[in-house]
Amino acid sequence: MQVFKFGGASVKDAQAVENVSKILKKYLGQKTIVVVSAMGKTTNLLEALAKAYFHGQEQKFDLLQQVKNYHFQIIEQLFRDKQNAVYDEVENVFVEMLWNIEEEPSGSFSFHYDQIVSLGEVLSTKIISHYLNSNQCANYWLDIRGILQTDNTYREGKVDYALSEALVNSDLLPLMQNHSMLVTQGFIGGTSENYTTTLGREGSDYTAALLAYFANAEKVVIWKDVPGVLNADPKYFKNTKKIDELGYHDAIELTYFGASVIHPKTIKPLQNKNIPLYVRSFLKPEDEGTVIKDGEKRNTVTSFIFKTNQILLSIQPKDFSFIAEDNLSLIFALFSKHNVRVNMMHNSAISFSVCVDHDEEKINALLEELHQQFKVLYNTDVQLMTIRNYNPEIITKLSENKLVLLEQRSRNTHQMVMKDV
Ligand code: ASP
Ligand code: MG
Repeated sequence: MQVFKFGGASVKDAQAVENVSKILKKYLGQKTIVVVSAMGKTTNLLEALAKAYFHGQEQKFDLLQQVKNYHFQIIEQLFRDKQNAVYDEVENVFVEMLWNIEEEPSGSFSFHYDQIVSLGEVLSTKIISHYLNSNQCANYWLDIRGILQTDNTYREGKVDYALSEALVNSDLLPLMQNHSMLVTQGFIGGTSENYTTTLGREGSDYTAALLAYFANAEKVVIWKDVPGVLNADPKYFKNTKKIDELGYHDAIELTYFGASVIHPKTIKPLQNKNIPLYVRSFLKPEDEGTVIKDGEKRNTVTSFIFKTNQILLSIQPKDFSFIAEDNLSLIFALFSKHNVRVNMMHNSAISFSVCVDHDEEKINALLEELHQQFKVLYNTDVQLMTIRNYNPEIITKLSENKLVLLEQRSRNTHQMVMKDV
């Protein structure tokens, strides 16, 4: 049994869906769980919708219409037969969404975010499952919210391993006796009260890894628009190199620092059961890609990870006390409470600096609490550059025309928080 994951770019329009279907047909008869993300940039649009809804802005209706038009345009290109059940099923999702956003918000922002944003994956999987079924690629549409159980940390659902594993055994695996292919949603889960949670942005890779772990799959394949794991993001760097093989250790370090090719949480479940992960191109499905597996092989290729939209906070106790264990534990408790992940940190006698993703909703809530006890200075619009297997020339080159605000190095890794000048 294998788990495949197709991300948003691989299903961004009708042609892309046809391409996915071509790939899947090569694996007909092999037991496969297909995990799919929302189409194209749907999650960003739904995120904007969730914000508009929560803040009572009329723009919410317009955003909903945009999401609807985008999906129906794809459906009309894929399904000539207007009687296909997909039309009604997708229409129903939108009717329900409209009802929901007509009501006043009744819970936290994160709660409503998850109920709205999760529909991107529901829509994409319905469309893809129906398309495959009407094109000689029989499959079963599975609602993953009944299998992957999480707590109610909305936007960052913590997976209940024991319960989810039991549900995979009792409800998911038996389905595969009659259906060799299941099509299901990445990124989302369900709570014991039947609410929907999300697992954190770009979390579909993590879903694929979890399902592989619970079902003891032989392998996971993540189909991407790049040839495999590259030493740098081609969005920011020219002349990137593909890495053919990576150990779990190197892979987890690269993704932790923000290599966006795979979600950082993906590696642990796979490493724990020694399941290999293949990263391959959906544009060139014959090519080998990268394999991430157990092994001594150390990656020595210099890799760059560039994160934009960072904020550098400098936190100082108001009473001029030292940044020591007591203050640090207070600060970390607040970071953890607000689910803000630290990308880099540094301390001096009376100041603690941290670089984090600038997610406005989370950061504003965090700052509000921090301000009660600390003086907080910050720099917005900063970038975090991480270089693995660095050398001095590379550091000089990458910091050209930049103001470096903070710099840190270990044996393998060099990090710089910087700003354009
Ligand atoms: N659609 C979700 C996102 O864009 C999950 C994913 O793509 O993995 O964050
Ligand atoms: Mg996505």
